[in-house]
Amino acid sequence: MGGACTPLRIDDRRCTRCGLCVTVCRCGALEALDGGAPRVHAERCVGCGACEEMCPEEAIDCAFAIVWGEGQEPPAPTVSLTQRDTSRR
Ligand code: SF4
Ligand code: SF4
Repeated sequence: MGGACTPLRIDDRRCTRCGLCVTVCRCGALEALDGGAPRVHAERCVGCGACEEMCPEEAIDCAFAIVWGEGQEPPAPTVSLTQRDTSRR
């Protein structure tokens, strides 16, 4: 069993470097940079979506999708997942 998550993306053109996403991330997955959008440490990100919710510029795309390889199947869900609201994009 396996799969890969699409990485979290930050739109550098929208980002105002306010730092809110860095503050809200409890996993240390976002690092503030001088003169640029925060750096994403994808290996630490758990996909909680808190940074996307917090960003006032809608610069973060945290719409994770698991891409399954050939011959792989996703496991049966054990919890109910709610659909994220993407209508504002
Ligand atoms: S919250 Fe949004 S605008 Fe602020 S630093 Fe993060 S990505 Fe940039
Ligand atoms: S999705 Fe959650 S863990 Fe990942 S960078 Fe955003 S706040 Fe941090």
